[in-house]
Amino acid sequence: MVKIILFLISIYVKIISVMKKNIHPQWYPQAKVTCACGATFVTGSTKPEIHVEICSQCHPFFTGEMKFVDTQGRIEKFKSKQQAAQGYTKKKKRGDEKEEKAKTLKEMLHKR
Ligand SMILES: [Zn+2]
Repeated sequence: MVKIILFLISIYVKIISVMKKNIHPQWYPQAKVTCACGATFVTGSTKPEIHVEICSQCHPFFTGEMKFVDTQGRIEKFKSKQQAAQGYTKKKKRGDEKEEKAKTLKEMLHKR
């Protein structure tokens, strides 16, 4: 049993010694996270500063409030699309187009 443990430890030490230098990103244990609502907290990250749109202080799940979280402006987009569609009319159905077209050569010649 002791031999197995020593063997595993030796493998672990080998892996650690093999880890390449300069391929691991800089680690910031005191990275500052700033939310759009104004809340800030500290966490570990490869970036020194993080800006987020929503956090546990303002997310409806944690606050218990009923509100829309529109982080990408989807509601605004939808409203603008609806406004643009106001003046839009439906296209003619396929059946209507076929009736207008001449079916025979004779019809084509008579139309002109
Ligand atoms: Zn927040």
